[in-house]
Amino acid sequence: MIPAVLPTYSRAKMSFETGEGSWLIDRDGTRYLDMAAGIAVTGLGHAHPTLVKVVQDQAAKLWHTSNLYHIPHQEELAEKLREATFADTMFFTNSGAEAMECAIKMARKYWYDKGQPERVNIITFTGSFHGRTLATISAAGSEKLTKGFGPLLPGFINLEAGDHDALQAALDDTIAAVIVEPVQGEGGIIPLPDACLKGLRDMCDSTGALLIFDEIQCGMGRTGKLFAHEWSGIRPDIMAVAKGIGNGFPLGACLATEEAASGMTAGTHGSTYGGNPLACAVGSAVMDIVADHDFLAEVSRKSGLLRQSLEGLVAAHPTIFELVRGAGLMIGVKCVVPNTDVVSAGYEQHLLSVPGGNNVIRLLPAMTISDDEIKEAVARLDRAATALEGAA
Ligand SMILES: *Cc1c(COP(=O)(O)O)cnc(C)c1O
Repeated sequence: MIPAVLPTYSRAKMSFETGEGSWLIDRDGTRYLDMAAGIAVTGLGHAHPTLVKVVQDQAAKLWHTSNLYHIPHQEELAEKLREATFADTMFFTNSGAEAMECAIKMARKYWYDKGQPERVNIITFTGSFHGRTLATISAAGSEKLTKGFGPLLPGFINLEAGDHDALQAALDDTIAAVIVEPVQGEGGIIPLPDACLKGLRDMCDSTGALLIFDEIQCGMGRTGKLFAHEWSGIRPDIMAVAKGIGNGFPLGACLATEEAASGMTAGTHGSTYGGNPLACAVGSAVMDIVADHDFLAEVSRKSGLLRQSLEGLVAAHPTIFELVRGAGLMIGVKCVVPNTDVVSAGYEQHLLSVPGGNNVIRLLPAMTISDDEIKEAVARLDRAATALEGAA
């Protein structure tokens, strides 16, 4: 008989009852070191005392009003994000895919209002991931996401990542926008070189195409800057954010310049829950912690520590691991053996990681992780690799 929950996930056997910082604790009291953070969501760890207090206080006051009325926490969060980014304005959602949907609609509406309604095509890249709605699977384009769900949404042109000539040829005056993850997450933690981001910005500027960043996974401090594209010095026109912005409270946002957002007038878009008082109270508190120079500097310092230890691990286990890559505390370890075997061997050592594309395991710890916990994570991965070598 089909399970009561639609069986679309292949789940590991564990389930957790409580969390504390970088640890998840099951019913028997067994503690797992969490290097997955709910797939880069709980960037400030589990049960962060400030955030617990914010949720409790707001829950006792007001959960939801709809966007029929002003929502002060929403405006407060928007002001903080505006202050800290390229954006002039933003729309709040409950998820990453919805933030991308808003980005796609915004780009098309921009050209429609500019008197070029035929300018609807959007360039995307292989290996990307933008969510699971029909528009976002059509955008990413991979068969793994789209098979059986056709007809897909037309208007997406999926190019080989890194094929500069193909991009140059495709980027004509039918292109409304280009969508890119500055660091591909699901694709296997693949940072786009700064030079490519700069080149992409120049190419978009030369045709007017809007540049859309999907920073749903790589944003909110994960790379050691508030947003990953800041390392390159260039700015997008539109950017989708989610995951870390609510630390586990469902929240997303589509940020934009005033120009890019110019078509999104009253009545053109909406969401019942998006940006409700509870979500935005949390998001606002997350911003206070993450958008801080010292906090972000610590992310970079811890990244150095973790990467250095992982390089040693790769050298010690050449039949298990191939290389380490990534940015900040968004790290991929490419495996020689199947990545799912490494993730499972990690579970045996009570270590949580996430499989990703390109046969990597992803390490996406809470940015509040301590140095000792970083060392412990690498020690557990070392034991997992040793166990796999013994089994071979
Ligand atoms: C997770 C993710 C999404 C989708 O976010 P949901 O909240 O699952 O809809 C989109 N893009 C990227 C880069 C992601 O990592």
